Amino acid sequence: MTANPTQSFERVAIIGPGLIGSSLAHAMRDAGLSGEIIGFDRDNAIANRALELGVIDKAAPDFAAAVANADLIILATPVGAITGLCELLNAHAPAGALIIDVGSVKGAIAAAAATVRENLYFIPCHPVAGTEQSGPEAGFKTLFKDRWCILTPLAREDEAYKAAVARATALWEAIGAHIEIMDPTHHDLALAVTSHLPHLIAFTLVGAADDLESVTQAEVIKYSAGGFRDFTRIAASDPVMWRDVFIHNKDAVLEVLGRFSEELAVLQRAIRWGDGEALHDAFTRGRELRRAIVDAGQETTAPNFGRDETD
Ligand code: NAP
Repeated sequence: MTANPTQSFERVAIIGPGLIGSSLAHAMRDAGLSGEIIGFDRDNAIANRALELGVIDKAAPDFAAAVANADLIILATPVGAITGLCELLNAHAPAGALIIDVGSVKGAIAAAAATVRENLYFIPCHPVAGTEQSGPEAGFKTLFKDRWCILTPLAREDEAYKAAVARATALWEAIGAHIEIMDPTHHDLALAVTSHLPHLIAFTLVGAADDLESVTQAEVIKYSAGGFRDFTRIAASDPVMWRDVFIHNKDAVLEVLGRFSEELAVLQRAIRWGDGEALHDAFTRGRELRRAIVDAGQETTAPNFGRDETD
């Protein structure tokens, strides 16, 4: 692989043109980085929908046809599909292709990526950007702008692989993302804190509210602006994607969940014993962290997430 890192790709294959895959297609086309974009989904109806929407230029009937002659292959499926896709890459991907994925877990994907042929250059990537929506309709070109994209390259020392890392970096930067290179185990622990645990809490909270028979569902909906609705946005995320995240990041999630349960027990005790100082201290930490996220440009400064309550 000797390509200039900033040059565009002649033929891009997107496997799984859902929210993230179609956003990449829009962003790459907008930045003039792609020639032809071919899409393949295990459900032909989704690839055809992506074609109708103009997200991709062609819908391929199978994986082999999608990756034929591709110089960039993007695996944008749920994490659980990646091992099977690596077997297909070994069988069908053209030598020299750059391969990136977008999965929210990196340890399991780095392990799968290490099984592909040496003349394929697989750089595991995780764009820390998304919404609770799925499918090709949900994609948009600015999804990655000013968001972080974490790369967890394989331990390969060859120059061709290093050039591929530079090319993947240039690609993400050209569509507005900031790059961080990280060890996959550290990625999985960090994201267990910032993404996986919050989703687990949101799924649990929404499930618990649904099960509380003494509070009616009508009341839960009516008074949701009290905080509940912000959790429902997260809890509306794709169940397949999240099933795969928890199955493939078990150790880090269990570690973080243990810490969370201890913190929760401390607050439970403070409430039981009327320890206002402990509660005040804990809630002050929350405000400070929120301010730091806003200062880092990762959230709006507008109150209530910028919602216009007059709408
Ligand atoms: P999505 O909108 O559901 O798109 C994924 C697509 O992949 C679906 O159309 C799915 O088809 C298809 N697919 C599943 N298995 C396949 C296979 N073996 N071969 C070909 N296509 C297959 O999901 P997404 O939100 O874009 O997420 C995609 C990836 O991005 C996940 O790994 C996720 O962890 C990661 N990610 C998501 C977010 C987010 O906020 N959503 C953020 C960062 C990273 P079916 O619908 O038939 O299963």
